[in-house]
Formats: sequence, C-alpha cells, structure tokens
Amino acid sequence: MNNIFKYLILFTLSFTLYLLNAQDVEYARQVFKKLTSTEFAGRSLADSGIYKAADFIENEFKNNGISVFSQLNSYKQCFSLPQSLIIENAKVKLDNKELILGHDYLPLPTSKTLKGEFNIKYIAINKNSKNKKILKAISKDPTDFYFLDFTDAYLLKAKDIEEYNTLKSLYYSTKSIPLGYIVLDSSSFFYTAKSFFNINYPVIMLNTNTYDNSLKPQKVYIDYKVKTVSNAELCNIVGYIPGIKYPDSFIVIGAHYDHLGKIADKHFPGANDNASGTVMLLDLAKKLATEDEKPNYSIIFISFAGEEIGLLGSKYFTTNPPVDLKNIKLMINLDMVGTGKDGISVVNAKKNPSIYNKLKLINEEKNYVVDMIEGGASCSSDHCPFDQRGVPAIFIFSRDKDYRYYHVMEDDYEILPLDGYEGIFKLIYDLIMNY
Ligand SMILES: [Zn+2]
Repeated sequence: MNNIFKYLILFTLSFTLYLLNAQDVEYARQVFKKLTSTEFAGRSLADSGIYKAADFIENEFKNNGISVFSQLNSYKQCFSLPQSLIIENAKVKLDNKELILGHDYLPLPTSKTLKGEFNIKYIAINKNSKNKKILKAISKDPTDFYFLDFTDAYLLKAKDIEEYNTLKSLYYSTKSIPLGYIVLDSSSFFYTAKSFFNINYPVIMLNTNTYDNSLKPQKVYIDYKVKTVSNAELCNIVGYIPGIKYPDSFIVIGAHYDHLGKIADKHFPGANDNASGTVMLLDLAKKLATEDEKPNYSIIFISFAGEEIGLLGSKYFTTNPPVDLKNIKLMINLDMVGTGKDGISVVNAKKNPSIYNKLKLINEEKNYVVDMIEGGASCSSDHCPFDQRGVPAIFIFSRDKDYRYYHVMEDDYEILPLDGYEGIFKLIYDLIMNY
C-alpha cells in the first residue's frame, strides 16, 4: 500500500473516531444538564423531581435501543416508601440576622413544624464533656434551643473516642427532647436525605466557614414547615442488553439517580452525586446498544432510586431479583465518578482480587486512570446489598482532593471537572467486553 493511501485511511479512521467521541461527549453533556436542572429539583420527592428523572431515564433507554428486561415486563421496578419528610419552608434568624440556607446553615430533615422566637443556651463540647450530664441539663430545661459548639471537640476525640461518638449523635437522639439544636461542627456541614421521624425537633447545622463564632447570639427565630408524605412509590429503572456467549449470565451496571432534593426553594443539583454515575450508565448502555460488537454476558443496567435514604432501590432489587442472583457474575456500582484528577478507588477490591486484577491489567496497558486504589469493603453505596447476597460486587468512585462538594448545593455541573470521566468510561467498557 502506498503511503498516501495509508495516511488517507488513517485520517478517515481517526476522523470517524473523533466524530464518535465528539458525539458521545455531547450526549453526556446533555444528560448532565438535564439531570442537574431545577426541573428535576434534586431528584427527590420534592416537586416530583424523582419521577421526572425516572421518566427521563426510561425514555433514554427506549430511544437508545436498550431493551426491557423480559422478566420485569417494564423498565420500572417499583417499591413503596412508607414515610418521607419534605422541608417546605425554612427561615432562621440569629439575633435578627437572617441566615442563608445552604450558605450559612442546613436544616436537617427532622419531623417538626415550628415557628417563633426562642432562647439559646450554649454547650461547648470540650475534653471533659459528658453525654449524661448534658442530657440531664437539657431535660431540666427543654423549652430552649441548645447551641452545641464542637469547635474543641477534637480534644475529647483524642481522649475518649466513645464519649465523643455518643456526643456526636446527641442531636439525633430521642433521649433528649429540647425545642431544637443549633450545631457548629466543622466535620458535619453536609445534608442527608434520610428522614428522622422519631426526632421531633429541628436541627440547624451551621457552616463553620461562614459563621462568626464570637457573636454568641441569645435568640433564635425559626419558621419551619415540614410535610409528611406517606406511601410514595419509588422506581428503579432497569434496562437490558443480551450477551452473545452467555445470555443467561449477567453483569450488572448500577448507579443511583436520586439525590437530596430540595429544601424550601433551594435545590441540590447532585452533579457528582450521582448525576455522574447515571450519565455514565446511560452512556455505556448507548454505546453497547449501538455498536456491532456485543459483550459475552448479558448486561443489566439499573438506575437505583432511594440510595440517599438508605440504599432502598438496591435492597429492593436484591430481595426481589428478576434473575437468580447466582447468575450475576459481576456487579459494578458507579457512584460519584465526575472527578478523577487523583485517580479512582475500587471499593471491595480486596474481596474480589480477580476483578481488581483485570482492571489493573487493562489500566497498565491503556493508562485510562492516573491511579487506582485497592479498597476494602464498605457498605456505603448500592454495591453493598449485592455483596451481602454473594454477588461479586465492586464500587468505583473518582478521586479529587480539591473537589470537596459532598452533599451541598455547590455540587453542580458547571464546576464538576469531569477530567476522569472518559478514562473511567473506557476502563469499564473494556472490562465488560473482555469478561
Ligand atoms: Zn450521596
């Protein structure tokens, strides 16, 4: 073959590859924007954001040629959520200074509607603090707000870790029933979607980065409206691509699509957690559906609901599995894969050395990710219910020590680096195709 021909073929080939790649990046971008938009309201029950997201993901499966898993008869696998709490209104003032939700404070989802002005009593946690003593003091005077200042709590942590842990859970305790808590703790400024029905008082988490601790306010004004939702239905969205060699054995790719939702009028976009995993799941499914080359094993794609409120979707799938769990040869959970400057961590790698070694070999050859940490077990995301029922399951998340936006409103698409996205995508694609 003469040289011009060679170059022409090479050029055409790389141009086609470039186009394919450009199209995929465009697709990922589109899905990201949609999932993190205010339309989906942080993908919880608030404003029905989770239902809009579920319909959107189902449509993506449909439009991209991913099949309904025949044993389910539908893309949706639904389950009931007995009770949930939505904070519809939250206004807080300390000595007449109004705090900005998300910036100055976060209201934890505890079950209390409350309005009025109340006195504040201070409790500074120091190395001599005792849980019992504090509980006693609160029970004597339960009609005040208690300001728990954990600034010096590290001294107690060094001295008596047990006492420290007990005190850290004081504001989740049903043993104490004050009117409410104001908490200043540098390690706790993040939101949780778990609803605390048994806790009948508001918890105001202050942001240590914006709070001036010399102020010592005497009064708190609060206006909270909390709504209870009973028997809501949540749905996992499940898609399927048949394998060519072992169609009755499966690889599961999972990524939860729910997030923290909305508190009052503020929405949590949840770009890294876990629009990133959802986008990668849809992106992988689209590639597998459109390309001629098919995997040996059948692939089940599961977009889980209810992860943030206690891994509910993955627990439901594994206790009501549409296939014998023994036939699932591998489960890969993608949760927070939108960074990657510092590489990835593979949770459950030590428990599944043969899977981890496969990933390592691929990466040694192709250099997809800059670093790979062989992680231990941790029941921190949707791989866990699979692992507990004997399915070889790993959980991949990306690392970036400078991206610190975990469970806060700042975790948005505009600032998510996505610098490891393509590498992680290819790593997983290669693993699936060589399994
Ligand atoms: Zn999360």
